[in-house]
Amino acid sequence: MVMTLSSSYAQQKFKSFKTWNKNVVIAHRGAWKAKGLPENSIAALNEAVRIGCHGAEFDVHMTADSILVVNHDADFLGLPIEKSTYAELKAKQLSNGEYIPTVESYLKAGMKQKNTRLVLEIKPSKAGKGQDLILAAKVVEMVKKLKAEPWVDYISFSYPILKKVKAIEPEAKLAYLAGDVSLEQLKADGFDGADYHYSVYKKGEWFAKAKALGLTINAWTVNDPADMKWLLENKVDFITTNEPELLFALINKR
Ligand code: MG
Repeated sequence: MVMTLSSSYAQQKFKSFKTWNKNVVIAHRGAWKAKGLPENSIAALNEAVRIGCHGAEFDVHMTADSILVVNHDADFLGLPIEKSTYAELKAKQLSNGEYIPTVESYLKAGMKQKNTRLVLEIKPSKAGKGQDLILAAKVVEMVKKLKAEPWVDYISFSYPILKKVKAIEPEAKLAYLAGDVSLEQLKADGFDGADYHYSVYKKGEWFAKAKALGLTINAWTVNDPADMKWLLENKVDFITTNEPELLFALINKR
């Protein structure tokens, strides 16, 4: 295909699909709970896709031999991920028989469809900030290698990690998790939104201000219907939940 000079590479790379599911539901670590699937498994990702979530969230660490893997904790079934090789981690299996997913395999599975976005959380390293920046660069490199840019939203509790992602990939979509930075600052730093614990939003004028600034509001991890209702009434953009089916039921009742 011949590209014209006017179609910038960035626009090509980040072309947005029109097929994303238009709802607020982000499945936290995939949709695992209702079906008894392991969190952060490819099965849980596929279930989030099957039930029509807007996004499936997952957590990323790096092994001692620099393989990016998907797991919530810094330990995988008792093995410290950063101090273990990928081969060592493959000695253990998730309850459904999957090995710890590599980020490569997870993204490839997610890229088979264009309805559910892949919400990639970069977990800070135990080895400190230097390692965090290496990890951030590795993750962006993998997303680039797979041409997964249109699917991926980046989130992290580490501000430096997200700033590093932005420095390498200015078009990347970012939301910060820790709840201690103002919307004005997020906007100034080129972030796309806040992804804070829902209790943070109960104080102050977050929703109106985000709308005025053109930022999105995502809330984690919301499992109680009363909290979900409050957020929906405030026209939240996204709700990250362990109970995506329950959230869909609430939305469909409205
Ligand atoms: Mg997470």
